[in-house]
Amino acid sequence: MFKGIVIEKDEAGYRAAVNDIDAAQLPEGDVTVAVDYSTLNYKDGLAITGKGPVVRKFPMVPGIDLVGTVEASDSAEWKVGDKVILNGWGVGETHWGGLAQKARLKGEWLVPLPAALSPRQAMAIGTAGYTAMLCVMALERHGVTPAKGEVVVTGAAGGVGSVAVALLAKLGYTVVAVSGRPEEAEYLKGLGAAEVMERAAFAAPGKPLARERWAGGVDVVGSHVLANLCASMKYGGVVAACGLAGGMDLPATVAPFILRGVTLAGIDSVMAPREVRIEAWRRLATDLDLSRLAVMTKEVGLAEAIPLAAQLLEGKVRGRLVVDVNV
Ligand code: NDP
Repeated sequence: MFKGIVIEKDEAGYRAAVNDIDAAQLPEGDVTVAVDYSTLNYKDGLAITGKGPVVRKFPMVPGIDLVGTVEASDSAEWKVGDKVILNGWGVGETHWGGLAQKARLKGEWLVPLPAALSPRQAMAIGTAGYTAMLCVMALERHGVTPAKGEVVVTGAAGGVGSVAVALLAKLGYTVVAVSGRPEEAEYLKGLGAAEVMERAAFAAPGKPLARERWAGGVDVVGSHVLANLCASMKYGGVVAACGLAGGMDLPATVAPFILRGVTLAGIDSVMAPREVRIEAWRRLATDLDLSRLAVMTKEVGLAEAIPLAAQLLEGKVRGRLVVDVNV
């Protein structure tokens, strides 16, 4: 038996609780992992509260990411004792996930824990941080360098946003953090933001084109915020869009794309190819200031993760929540 969060949906309703789970119930897979840490990402918030259609099968163990030690393996690639990271692949949605003491997974989904990171640091980064790295890599791939000008990060006090601010600052960019929480301005400056702007300046419907300001952007919000970012990119600017914390819609025009050559780079962490993941984790191990990572991280146990899921969706959680599944 092992402990984990279990989500059930039946006549009694949609609910999540910490349960004792029989290891015989673990799903199919060729690698069994003793989980050290998982995390709470936005999608885990949706899964645990039922506020978004994330969970596709019931009962479900949520948790879209985990770090742990291989306990049993029929995969040629992994042996007992290997330290591994899992992000995405539908884990925590269609396949039992990381918010439990054990997980059974496909070996091809796993990446090695970089030697420079402890298991806890890897989950302080988690899917949010790995996605932030994918966003930064997209900006680089499209030619955004620190010399090109300011880069803007929205939802900056959240998980993806905090890691994006810290990464971009360490890489030498001038980072402007956009947040709905002015009280987090000092926190964001501590992560490396040169300036903090109020979300309200971006949240209302805007013009097709605005004053050119940004060389690059990382957006976790969507809707009017993303539309306004696109409208205020410099000529040839690039926005990496990864989130929908403010809405799924995109009320924009094509003007920034056809008149200023702006690029909208879509970011998906769930099905990203393995070589991209390995590169992202390699970069995270070298390009993230671990003292800043520590500042943005709070650790909780499995039971605490359940009420925190609702707070996360309300935008009340700062930075990253690491879940120690063994407390
Ligand atoms: P968090 O909840 O940690 O951060 C989201 C932040 O967005 C909040 O902290 C808040 O920042 C801001 N925000 C919240 N609600 C609103 C709102 N109604 N309008 C505008 N801004 C809002 O979530 P994560 O960082 O884990 O995830 C952020 C987004 O990225 C989510 O939509 C998530 O689904 C997506 N995501 C996508 C991935 C992919 O593969 N494409 C992978 C990982 C995440 P502040 O208070 O500073 O404004």
